[in-house]
Amino acid sequence: MTQVSLEELAKSAANCDRCELCRSRANVVFGEGDPETPMLLIGEGPGETEDATGRPFVGRAGALLDKALLENKIQRKHVYITNIIKCRATLVENGRVQNRPPRVDEINACRDWLLQQIGLIKPLVIVCIGGPSAKLLIHPTFAMTREHGVFFDTPYCPGGITAVLHPAYILRMQGNAFEQNYRYLVDDIAKARRRVIDIRKGTVQPPPAAKPEPPEELTLF
Ligand code: SF4
Repeated sequence: MTQVSLEELAKSAANCDRCELCRSRANVVFGEGDPETPMLLIGEGPGETEDATGRPFVGRAGALLDKALLENKIQRKHVYITNIIKCRATLVENGRVQNRPPRVDEINACRDWLLQQIGLIKPLVIVCIGGPSAKLLIHPTFAMTREHGVFFDTPYCPGGITAVLHPAYILRMQGNAFEQNYRYLVDDIAKARRRVIDIRKGTVQPPPAAKPEPPEELTLF
């Protein structure tokens, strides 16, 4: 069977009704960026602005992420950004629609889209954005305060997987706390960029257990 392109996969996902989030979403936020990038960034799920625009990591958090990437001489178009789930998970509280963490059944329903994305992009490194995606993709007790920027072996790509602080979390801080945590974000992206460079130079050998598997054979969670 001919392998589908990322574009074709996105078109299929646009009509996905594998979980009930399809009923409340405005748009499927499939992901965007360079389909041949060495660096894949994965957040938890789309929020209000992402749902409205169909694009991942837009709004203030997206702008901060873009800034941190640019400090590392990386433009958004040079990486690929997506999420664990592709549709916004919400609840209604006091008459207002709020974001909520995705449920396990929603994550499981959506995982094949992510596995296929990983299989098609074949990144050298994966960067989880925020604790929830790190807990799902790295290990369930991932502690962002002490493990951000650390590389772990993974079956999903040869260069390993790491996690950075979520820009929305950093935006809730002020003064020195903001500066310190924003610096962590920039520095952790720098580590991922350095890892890509080192792998390409051959100065870091991919761990034997980290060879990419065909998407249908991957076990994500
Ligand atoms: S969250 Fe994923 S599985 Fe659920 S409807 Fe959206 S694309 Fe489909």
